[in-house]
Amino acid sequence: MKLRKPLMRNFLVVFALLSVIATAVNAADGTLALLREADSLRSSSPIEFQDKLKEIEKQAGALNNYESEYLAYLRAYNLSFSGQLNDAYLMYQELAQKSQFDEFRFRALTSMVNTNAIRREWTLGLENLRQTIEILPTVENIQLKEHGLAVAAVFYNYLEQHALAKEFALQLAESTSNQRSLCFALQLRLQADTGLGTIGIGDELFQIALQHCETIGELVVASAIVSYKAELLLKDSQASEASQLLDQYLERVNNTGYPPIIASFYTLLAEANLLQNKKAVAAEYATTALKYTSSATNAEAAMRANKVLFDYHSSRGNSEAALEAYIKYAEADKAYLDEVKTKTLAFQLAEHQSLEQQNKISLLDEQNKLLKVQQQLDQAQAYNSRLLIAVLFCITLGLGTWGWHSWQSQRRLKQLAEFDSLTGLFSRGHFTQVSLSAVEYAKTLNAPISCILLDVDKFKQINDRLGHATGDWALKEVARICKEQVREYEIFGRIGGEEFCLLLPECELKHATDLANAMCQALRGADTSASGHKFELTASFGVTDNARAGYSLDKLMAQADKAMYSAKKQGRNQVQCYSANPSVATTPQEAG
Ligand code: GH3
Ligand code: MG
Ligand code: MG
Repeated sequence: MKLRKPLMRNFLVVFALLSVIATAVNAADGTLALLREADSLRSSSPIEFQDKLKEIEKQAGALNNYESEYLAYLRAYNLSFSGQLNDAYLMYQELAQKSQFDEFRFRALTSMVNTNAIRREWTLGLENLRQTIEILPTVENIQLKEHGLAVAAVFYNYLEQHALAKEFALQLAESTSNQRSLCFALQLRLQADTGLGTIGIGDELFQIALQHCETIGELVVASAIVSYKAELLLKDSQASEASQLLDQYLERVNNTGYPPIIASFYTLLAEANLLQNKKAVAAEYATTALKYTSSATNAEAAMRANKVLFDYHSSRGNSEAALEAYIKYAEADKAYLDEVKTKTLAFQLAEHQSLEQQNKISLLDEQNKLLKVQQQLDQAQAYNSRLLIAVLFCITLGLGTWGWHSWQSQRRLKQLAEFDSLTGLFSRGHFTQVSLSAVEYAKTLNAPISCILLDVDKFKQINDRLGHATGDWALKEVARICKEQVREYEIFGRIGGEEFCLLLPECELKHATDLANAMCQALRGADTSASGHKFELTASFGVTDNARAGYSLDKLMAQADKAMYSAKKQGRNQVQCYSANPSVATTPQEAG
């Protein structure tokens, strides 16, 4: 008969997972001591555990937070033990979400893994397991850590992921110094090895594990180990050795009161007896096994027990009973195969999700790298742009400054060329240039234009007596006073050391003479004390116009100069108008 994988691999879940934590019953007093005692009895003595729990419930009102959470955890355990898995799961979930203590949060989470394993919520269980494994490295409490490792190994065994299960079982065996944990680690490893087919019946590990677990009183775990060995014996057609081994442990298994383990043991016994052709005994064992299981709770045991019954009834020619057994067998077989399929699918889904997660992460990594490169590129570009802008700015600034300086110096040169630095009047050259245009313009309009030329009287004496600086001051003062008498736009220049010339467009001789007189008078009355000296400041003026000189600047200036000399001759400090005949040079009065 073709045997399937180890029949006993599932039943241990509730026990294994929740009892690895060896709770030290030390110096705690009262309720806490009771809680710890109950905790330590959970798997080894379920009946005693329930008694203790009842005892604690009586004091439920007087517990502190830690004790209350401890009790909540044990209550949930008790619910799952008695098969109320959904209620148990909800209690664990609440504890995992709300507990103030890391210990209960972690224990609740691992219990959720177990509960989901038993109620066949594989995907949910895998998610709980993922969370458990994720926080496992941060768990400092050694017992809790070992518990986490055990939970992972159990769940993966349950999911038929024996290679993963073995990894965690080995980790647990290596790290633990606790006897009970070591017993579980050995059992989980044997379960994984049996599933993987990497262990033989004669392997001494069976003996070591069995002996160790029996010595410390972990008989339920020992029973599981026995079942793995029996399975291998059956596979090897050593049916009588298998029944002998199973018989030896049957009483202890019955005493656990845990249906899944009882069903599995009786199923194995049924198969072993069938192989030995003890068909009636086999049928009896199979019937007992079915009392403890159904296709819903343990499909594999139900399927295998029904198969034994079918063989038995067929061999006796009881076709009606055989058909009934066969239908149940087929039903359980389908449920079993569905379960295997569901487990595989759940695992593949989880694998796929984690792979997708990893892909997403590496994609994000790549995107991040790309973004960084882009950023660096942008930065470099921005830097280059800034550099370019800076360079351009510098060039522009340089050019601007250069332009400004050049414009400034040109302006300065122009200024120097156009204006007399001492008096601020037009220089001789500029005066001539502007005057030429003005004469030309007056000519085209046939408009009047006059010219006044003045020379400071005895200026050499001022220089000689009062110093050159006072002489300069006097020149500036002459320019300022004369300028006050004329319009802003009149053409006024310093044409020699102490000689000035005024060209007056739209101005006839009479008006020009009046103007010269006003200037002469203003100078005469000038107060020179600001120079630090009191001295006489006068000038001689010569006046002419286009009526006498025509529209020629040279002639205008020459005539005005002649008239000015005439004024000097007449005793200075006066105005003379030009006359073609010097002897009849007219005085201002006459000029009118
Ligand atoms: P006159 O009444 O005949 O014009 O006598 P004058 O002394 O004014 O005439 P002269 O031409 O002999 O003297 C002119 C002097 O003006 C000679 C020169 O040293 C002086 N001079 C020419 N330019 C400047 C100047 O820019 N500053 C000063 N302080 N003196 C100047
Ligand atoms: Mg002179
Ligand atoms: Mg002079």
